[in-house]
Amino acid sequence: MRVKMIKLNNGMEMPMEGLGVYQVLDMAECEQAVSDALKAGYRLIDTAASYNNEEAVGAAIRKSGIPREEIFVTTKIWVADFGDDKTPAAVERALNKLNIGYIDLVLLHQAMSDYYGAWRALEKEYEKGRIKAIGVSNFYPDRLVDLCENVRIIPAVNQVECHPFYQKEYDLEVMKELGVSPMAWAPFAEGGHDIWNNPVLKEIAEKHGKTVAQVTLRWNVQRGVIVIPKSVHQNRIVENMDIWDFELDTEDMGKISTLDTGKTEIFDHYDIKLVRLCNQLGR
Ligand code: NAP
Repeated sequence: MRVKMIKLNNGMEMPMEGLGVYQVLDMAECEQAVSDALKAGYRLIDTAASYNNEEAVGAAIRKSGIPREEIFVTTKIWVADFGDDKTPAAVERALNKLNIGYIDLVLLHQAMSDYYGAWRALEKEYEKGRIKAIGVSNFYPDRLVDLCENVRIIPAVNQVECHPFYQKEYDLEVMKELGVSPMAWAPFAEGGHDIWNNPVLKEIAEKHGKTVAQVTLRWNVQRGVIVIPKSVHQNRIVENMDIWDFELDTEDMGKISTLDTGKTEIFDHYDIKLVRLCNQLGR
């Protein structure tokens, strides 16, 4: 079964599932994971300047033999590179490190610092054709609406934390209204909340002959959310992609909706210590 595609607001098609490579700091391990994912049928890879592994992602793609246009690559610009003057150089660096000709989607990593200047710069890079779509990450509804009220190009994607314990229904409604496609980071809550032993998810998994990981990913894609599970284990990479041959029913979706806690346990953007840290990193 093939991965479903989603049409972005600029007409571009994007796979609804891909591999995330956050915290994969060993270059050989990162290249191996991307290579395993491409062999398992993944055609979307999510990296970032701050993950320090864009070179390994690019190397795996170049060596794969898969035509470039069949693969969709997302990277992110870090806060220290936000601004009319700084962001073009950061895009140039990402293009050089990935070394795959063009980048499919470039996101602003956080709604911090001079993200308006950064967005104006991204709009210009997009119009030059070197990046095929532009978007944001970690923009909560108020920041996203404010951005959309004040820019020429509406973000194609907003990548936010989204899993059964932090479901973001309101955020999804706002994104839908704006025409911004939602993309979930930490679709497994990074393994938190004892997700692998959650009785609700386990029961639904048994009912469908699937795993907790597969049910968790399937739930998000059925809500129209793009998922980018991270794994460096080949068997899990394969397992995570095997979600396109079954469907959760209304009862399953209803049971999973009861797991929402409405808050993060990973990265609280209202925590001023973290906001200061993000502004200082990479300065
Ligand atoms: P995640 O995908 O929710 O969870 C990854 C964890 O789950 C790893 O410990 C992985 O272990 C484990 N795992 C994966 N598949 C499994 C399976 N089938 N069974 C059991 N365990 C499994 O966490 P994440 O990496 O934070 O999020 C995914 C991606 O989102 C990132 O890689 C990154 O691309 C993106 N992200 C973006 C932001 C942002 O601010 N925009 C923030 C965080 C993440 P192994 O690797 O050992 O298999």
